[in-house]
Amino acid sequence: MFFVFLALANSLHAAYQVQRGLLLQHSLDANRSYAEKLSRVTDSFLEKSTQALAAAALDVGESRLDPAATQKELDQVSSVTDTFNAVIAVDSTGKIFAAEPAGEFRVGSYLQASQARALLEAQDSAAISGAFRGPGNRWLILISYPILTDGRYAGFVGGAVYLQGGSALQNALNKLHYQDRSYFYIVDETGAVVYHPDPELIGTSFKGSKPVSAVLRGEVGTERTIESGAKDQLVSYAPIPSPSWGVVAHRPTEVALSNIDELFLRTLYYSLPVVILSLLAIWWLSRFIARPLRELAEVAANLGDSANFSRIRSIKGWYLEAALIRKGLMRSFSAIGSRMRQLHIEGTTDPLTGALNRRGLDTAMERIMEEERNAAVVMVDVDHFKAVNDEYGHAVGDEVLKAITASIMAEARSEDVVARMGGEEFVILLPDSGVGPAQHFAERLRSAIERTAFDNAGSVTISLGVACYPEHGTDIHDALALADTALYRAKAAGRNRVHLA
Ligand code: GH3
Ligand code: MG
Ligand code: MG
Repeated sequence: MFFVFLALANSLHAAYQVQRGLLLQHSLDANRSYAEKLSRVTDSFLEKSTQALAAAALDVGESRLDPAATQKELDQVSSVTDTFNAVIAVDSTGKIFAAEPAGEFRVGSYLQASQARALLEAQDSAAISGAFRGPGNRWLILISYPILTDGRYAGFVGGAVYLQGGSALQNALNKLHYQDRSYFYIVDETGAVVYHPDPELIGTSFKGSKPVSAVLRGEVGTERTIESGAKDQLVSYAPIPSPSWGVVAHRPTEVALSNIDELFLRTLYYSLPVVILSLLAIWWLSRFIARPLRELAEVAANLGDSANFSRIRSIKGWYLEAALIRKGLMRSFSAIGSRMRQLHIEGTTDPLTGALNRRGLDTAMERIMEEERNAAVVMVDVDHFKAVNDEYGHAVGDEVLKAITASIMAEARSEDVVARMGGEEFVILLPDSGVGPAQHFAERLRSAIERTAFDNAGSVTISLGVACYPEHGTDIHDALALADTALYRAKAAGRNRVHLA
C-alpha cells in the first residue's frame, strides 16, 4: 500500500509538473500573441489618425497657408474625428499659424519640444513624434501630415493626442486590458512611456529595462522574468513598426498558473477510482496470501497439541511456498511425534530384557488405578542367582534373565504387564484377575521355569509371591508390598514355590 501511495504521489507530481510546464508555455505563447495584437491595434490607430489629417493638409496647401481657410480645415478635422485632442497647422519654420481648439496651442508661437521639431525634419512624409510635454505642460504626441505648396514642403498639419486625462488612443487601449492583473505599456523610440495603465508613469523613461531594449531593437519575444522583488512575470513584447515604438505586455505567472490547482484536482479525481481499486485488491490479496502463513504459524506455535496435526491438513496452501511450508511442518510434526514415542518407549523399558522398567511399572499401576480395575500382583525372584553368575559368568547370567523374561511373557496374557524391578526380580500385573487365576498363573510360571533347560546354565528355579487388590491391601501399591512379603516367605520356606499374601 505504501508503494501504491508512493507511485500515486510520484505520478501526480509528474502530472503536476507537466501540466504546469504546458500551462506556462501556453501562457507565454498567448501573451506574445497578445503583445502582437496590441501592436497591430496601435499601429492601425496611428495609421488611421495620420489619414484623418491628409485631406486637411492637402486643402491647407492649396490655400497657400491661408489662416482663415486653414482654421476652417482644422475645425473640420476636429468635428469629424475624435482622434485628436487638438489640431494645429505649423509652417516650415515651426511656427503655429492655426490651432483648434484655440488656447492650448497659441497661434503665433513656435514649437519648442525637440520631439515636435523633429517632425519638421520628416519633411515630405507623415510622422509621429515621441512623447513630450506640450504648451499646457501635459504629455502628448503629435502626428504630422506634410503641407505642400506647389510641390514644396511648407509645414504640416498636426494632430495632438494627449497621453493623460483621456484621449481616443487611451480609450482604445484601455479596452484591451484583461480583467486579471495583466497589463501592458507602450514606449516610444527613446524608451519614454507613451501609454501605461498608471498615468503617473507616462513620459518616464523605461529605456534601461531589458524587454524595452529588446523591443526597440525590433525584436518580438516572450520570457519569464523572476525579479528580485518576488515579482514572477511572463513578459512579452512586440514592436510597432511605423513610429518604431514597442509594446510590452506583463502577465503575473501566478495568474497564468491560476487554474493549475483545478487541473491538478481533476487529474486526482480521474486517477482515484483505479487507486482505490488497487488498494482494495492489495488488501484482499495480502490477506489471501497471508492467511495460510498465519494458520501455519498458529499450528507451529502449538505443536504439542495433537489436534493441530489434523488441522494442518485442512490448511489450504494455495501457492507453492505455503504448500512447501505446510509439507515441511507435517514432516517435522510426524518426525517429532515418532521420536517422542521412541523416547517414551526407551524411558519405560528395560534395555536388557525388553520388559517394562520401574518407571513403566509405575505408569501401568497408575493407569489401572485410574481405570479403577481389580488386579493381581505376582512378584518373582530367581533362586540363588548369585551362584549362576559365580559359576557361569555375568554374561550367561544376563542370557538367563532374558530367557526368563521370554518365558514370563509367553505365559502372560496380552493385557498383562511384565516389569523387571532391577537385579533378578520381576513383577507381573494381572488386570481383572482374582486370587484363584493369579495363583494358577504363578504356579504355571514356576513349573515352566523349573522345566526349562537354559543354554549354558542348566536349570534355575524361581520363588513367587502373590497378592490381589482388593482381596489383599487397600490399593495396588499395598498389594505390591504384600506380594513382596509373600515372596520373602516363599524364600524362607525353601524356595521354588508360590506363596499367597
Ligand atoms: P536368593 O535370592 O535365592 O536368596 O539368592 P540370590 O543369589 O539370588 O541372592 P540375591 O537375590 O541377593 O542376589 C542377587 C544377585 O543377582 C546379585 C547379582 O550378582 C545378581 N544380579 C543382579 N542383577 C544382575 C544382572 O543384571 N545381571 C546378572 N548377570 N546378574 C545380576
Ligand atoms: Mg534378589
Ligand atoms: Mg535371588
